[in-house]
Amino acid sequence: MRIPQRRTLCTGEKLGMIKVGINGYGTIGRRVADAVRVQKDMSVVGIVKTKPDYVAREASKNYRLFCSGKENLKSFSEEGLEAEGTIDDLLDDVDIIVDATPEGQGEKNLPMYRNKKVKAIFQGGESSGMVEASFNAYSNFMDSWGKDYVRVVSCNTTAMARTVSAVMNRFGVRKLDATIIRRATDPNDSKKGPINSVEPSLKFPSHHGPDLKTVLRIGEANTVAIKVPTTLMHVHVVNLTVDKSITEDDVNDLFKEYRRIITIRGKDGLPSTAQIMDMAREMGRKRGDLFEIAVWKESIYANNNTLRYIQAVHQESDVVPENVDAIRAMLQEKDRESSVDETDRTLEIRGKT
Ligand code: NAD
Repeated sequence: MRIPQRRTLCTGEKLGMIKVGINGYGTIGRRVADAVRVQKDMSVVGIVKTKPDYVAREASKNYRLFCSGKENLKSFSEEGLEAEGTIDDLLDDVDIIVDATPEGQGEKNLPMYRNKKVKAIFQGGESSGMVEASFNAYSNFMDSWGKDYVRVVSCNTTAMARTVSAVMNRFGVRKLDATIIRRATDPNDSKKGPINSVEPSLKFPSHHGPDLKTVLRIGEANTVAIKVPTTLMHVHVVNLTVDKSITEDDVNDLFKEYRRIITIRGKDGLPSTAQIMDMAREMGRKRGDLFEIAVWKESIYANNNTLRYIQAVHQESDVVPENVDAIRAMLQEKDRESSVDETDRTLEIRGKT
């Protein structure tokens, strides 16, 4: 039986708003919180933090704070931060929780959400087997319609699902071969590496190919991933075998139809991920985020049934609009087109060529 929707009111909230909690306020959680906050049909009831650090201090200016466990409450008050309770209290007051805790912790949290009868969205670090559906707004929005437990796929899978599903819908895609050049870690992390080596995934396919199949009906998806010492973005070299003959103009026109894909040109001063991230900062987005997948125009090569292109992926933010859309799908709030339109409008995702 599905979890019934609560939609009760708490102080200062409008009737009918989807009440969202955020468990895990790191790279992804804080961005999803800010994205939910600007939606008209949902509100952030609170966020869960483990430590009263600088992130908690900043978060407390906008959000009600909750602790991951009773044992942490004292440490917050000692640092002059008011935590209103624990995750348990937050779960009593939300329609849905976005779990953005570190890889593997989401699976441990699932029984807690089930006990509290709260819907939950997990992130790409969790396995597809623990949820009812994996989610990408462009490729399979309706698979999560009304579902209780859903996973928004990883940053890499989200990026491939976006551009490949666009091509698939118009030209059909039989086969994908992709090389994923992965950033080593995120900019705020000083622990992980490599800092002076290149680390291939070794096995074919890397986990990305099978993961893509959880959100896209594609026959063959062969991927290899190579980790490199950078924190800015991932880069994908994508090679597709398509059903219908395709030209470079077709691809340029096609990508213009999707706001979450932008085409950029090296000759416009964007030859590498360094300048793309600089462009994002110039665009004035909070944290210099780039929600869109950036495809280099010069890299697009099309010949009969072959299409190749290279795309750059801002791993910290491309999954953020998908989390917002997944909330609407699970709460049966809006259909795909209306949800994507609303998310893009509020996050100022306008597309660009
Ligand atoms: P992160 O380490 O930046 O953030 C996780 C946060 O959760 C931290 O603030 C941590 O203190 C907190 N936390 C740890 N244990 C907790 C607990 N028991 N309860 C509540 N909070 C807890 O991690 P992240 O990069 O945001 O990744 C979160 C998820 O998103 C993972 O599944 C990851 O695979 C996925 N993801 C990450 C990226 C990325 O590039 N960073 C991109 C897409 C998806």
